[in-house]
Parts: sequence; C-alpha cells; structure tokens
Amino acid sequence: MNLQPPAFHLLAKPTGATCNLDCKYCFFLSKEMLYPGDRFRMSDEMLETYIRQLLEAYPRPEIIIAWQGGEPTLMGLDFFRRSIEYVEKYRKPGQQILHTMQTNGILLNDEWCAFFKQHKFLIGLSVDGPKEMHDAYRVNKGGAGSFDQAMRAWEVLRRHEVDFNILCTIHAANADHPLEVYRFFRDVLQTGFMQFIPIVERATEELLPLANLGWGDRPGADRPLYTQRGGLVTERSVGAEQFGRFLIAIFEEWVHRDVGKVFVQTFDVALGSWLGQHNLCIFSPTCGEALALEHNGDLYSCDHYVEPDYLLGNIRETPMGELVASEKQRKFGQDKLCSLPKYCRDCNVLFACYGECPRNRFIATPDGEPGLNYLCAGYKMFFNHIDPAMKIMANLLRQGRFADEIMRMYAAQGARQGTGETKVGRNDPCPCGSRKKYKHCHGGAAAAPGSPTIRMG
Ligand code: SF4
Ligand code: SF4
Repeated sequence: MNLQPPAFHLLAKPTGATCNLDCKYCFFLSKEMLYPGDRFRMSDEMLETYIRQLLEAYPRPEIIIAWQGGEPTLMGLDFFRRSIEYVEKYRKPGQQILHTMQTNGILLNDEWCAFFKQHKFLIGLSVDGPKEMHDAYRVNKGGAGSFDQAMRAWEVLRRHEVDFNILCTIHAANADHPLEVYRFFRDVLQTGFMQFIPIVERATEELLPLANLGWGDRPGADRPLYTQRGGLVTERSVGAEQFGRFLIAIFEEWVHRDVGKVFVQTFDVALGSWLGQHNLCIFSPTCGEALALEHNGDLYSCDHYVEPDYLLGNIRETPMGELVASEKQRKFGQDKLCSLPKYCRDCNVLFACYGECPRNRFIATPDGEPGLNYLCAGYKMFFNHIDPAMKIMANLLRQGRFADEIMRMYAAQGARQGTGETKVGRNDPCPCGSRKKYKHCHGGAAAAPGSPTIRMG
C-alpha cells in the first residue's frame, strides 16, 4: 500500500499516561490500565523510529513535533536532547520544525527553560485560574494543590523568555468565574495566548460513584478505565449552559478591549468559521488528522480515543504514513460529519460548531435522536451571541482591514448614544462605519433572536 497521508498532527506521549500529578478530572491517568505492568517510557529506539517516520511521512515542510502526556518532562531532559539530535539526523532540506510540549510545569527549572528557549519550543502550561480554582482538582498524589508549583514554572518560563500558552480546563470549580479566570491570565500572568477546554467526564450509572472520586491512584483499590460510554457526567464536569455563559462573558470583555492583543483559541477559530475556514478539529466538518502516539509506538485515531477500538497499529510494524492514510482512520474522520443528528444538520450555527467533538455526543436531541453533543445548549448560546460581532470582524478582514477596529466602532457607538451600553438594532447604523443600516450591511441576520446587546467597558 502506498497512500499519501494528509497533513496531520500527532501528539506523542513518551510516558504514556504517567504523570507526577493526580488531577481528579484527568481520565487519561486511567489509561495506564491499557498497558498493565508497563514502565511507560519511550525507548531510545522508538524515539528514533518516531522522529524518522514523522519526518519521512509528513507531506508539508512545516512539521510540529508535539509532546504530551501524562507528563512528558518525566522522561528527563536528555530524552528531549536526543529528540533534537534525531531531528537533525533525519531532517530533509527545507523542513521547518516546531517543537511543542504540554506540561504541568512541576519539573521545570532553569535548565529545562534554557533548553526550550534554545530550541524555540512552544510550551503549553496547564493552569486552571487563581489558586483556589486551580487547586480544586489539580492536586498531587498526596492530594495537595499544585498552584504554587505551576506559578514557579510560569516564573521560570517568563525569565527565559520561552513562548508559552496557558491551557485552562473549565469545570465545576471555575466555570462560574469567567472574568476572574480571564483577567488572572491576562493581567497577572500577562499571557497573550489562552485555550479553554471544557471538562466533560462521561460515565455510566455503575461507574459514576467511582468516577466522582477521580481517575488517579487509589491505593488498595481498582480504579476505573475511562471509555466513551454512558450518558452521565461526573460532578466535576462543566454544565452545557454554564460553559456557554463562561465563553460569552469572556468574549464580551475580549471584543471590547483585547482583540488583537489577547489570543483566545475558541474566538480565533470562530472568526475563521465566519470566514469559511475550519482551523480546529472539534469545530470542523470532519476530523481524523490529530492522532496520538503511545510510548511503545501504538498509534491511535485521536488523543481522546486512546482505546482498543481505535488502535490503528504500531509504527514498528506498519509505517506511520500508512496508518495515518488508512481506511480505518479516514472513516474515523468522516464519521464526525456522517453521524451528525438532524437537529445539528438543521442548526443555524452548524457552520461554526459542526457538532463539536464526537466524544461529547452522548445525549439525545429534543425529538429523541441520539448523538447530540452534551455541550450543545452552551454552544448554541455562544455562537448565536457572537454572531453580530463575528460578522463585523469577518467583514473588516474581507475589506483588508483589521478585526481590532471593532473595538473603536463599539466605543464610538457607545459614545454616540451616551451610554455605557450599545444596542445595535436592525435599523441602526452598522457599527462598522459603512453608513448602511445594520440589517443591510451584515445581513442583519444576527442569528440570535432580537438585537445583540454589547456592553461597554
Ligand atoms: S475525535 Fe474530537 S478531538 Fe479527536 S480529532 Fe475528532 S474532533 Fe478532534
Ligand atoms: S449548536 Fe448544538 S445543534 Fe448546533 S451544531 Fe452545535 S451541537 Fe449541533
């Protein structure tokens, strides 16, 4: 077989699911059960095989080498020094490599950060907000919060001027505090890049009591293996509408003062959707181009489907390029679109949502069809709410202007009305300055019922 793989993204997990924290919501911890008795360390030989195959198979010149876990820093710095050596050994002329790593930061010190800086790593640091929100679930094996260690990691990353993003999961402990979370990242951590990931821990009725205790180590007791089954969620999971409100609150602050200064992945990807582009698997029609490589060379369809049914094969036996281009993986990606319920296919924000990730599609639609996304109500609220602003920003970009002009438009509109609040009605002048009525400029087809309300400052 000689199939050309599509451009794909591969998350490599050199320590499998092994981690030096025991975050209560981290169902990846339970994946250790897939490899009983294993040491969970990628061998040097596998490291070389992986880098060689990735550089051979990848169809474009810009290649991301992404490390994730578990906690990848548990491999030790020498492992990553060798990864750089193998990149240099197998790199083809013209290939540009970006190294990335997602970490909890516990082990980061001057030596790590000097290495990251030298090799231009982009680091994702996991922080769930201010101390009490972070410490609610991000705990160590003894149950103590890890906030202070995450802040030490932040400090050393900043001191070495390493590029980093904040990755924040949204759950029961921080979901009702959107602005506190956002302002903490923007003003205290002074980061310009953040991602918000909803925690949805699915469980069956019999698994739920155990799952509510967390997925980590349980001395003297079995722990549950997380699989995509059941119609219930743990008490740590974010509610659908709660997540929608979270995103809307941050969007309002962002669209009035931070466009162009702060990068919030969900907003950036949404703007792409309003321009007809799909830049993130969960909001794209199909997926299947974000795979996960376990420490032993097992390649899975997706990081969220590291489960026996989604094992494509082992790169020691079958070249990575063949596995990525396989019929099984192609079908995995197509199923995202094919399995959408009619309720989604008829939805006015389908173009931006596309039913989000299949892993969260485990509730029924109002007319009883299975396969609706658990977060649907939240996404419907959010995408409808941002529709007017997205139309304006998309229009600005189409005109060759900048999206951040929207902030001046809103400010001017508020000043004209002499209020701290702007209501843009269908017959009002469009805030984009086109002199047309809003309904004529941007279709006025604000998907949200009624006029959009924009609060100033
Ligand atoms: S299953 Fe979800 S996370 Fe995985 S590639 Fe598809 S959309 Fe992305
Ligand atoms: S908002 Fe709900 S109905 Fe619409 S596409 Fe998303 S999941 Fe489907």
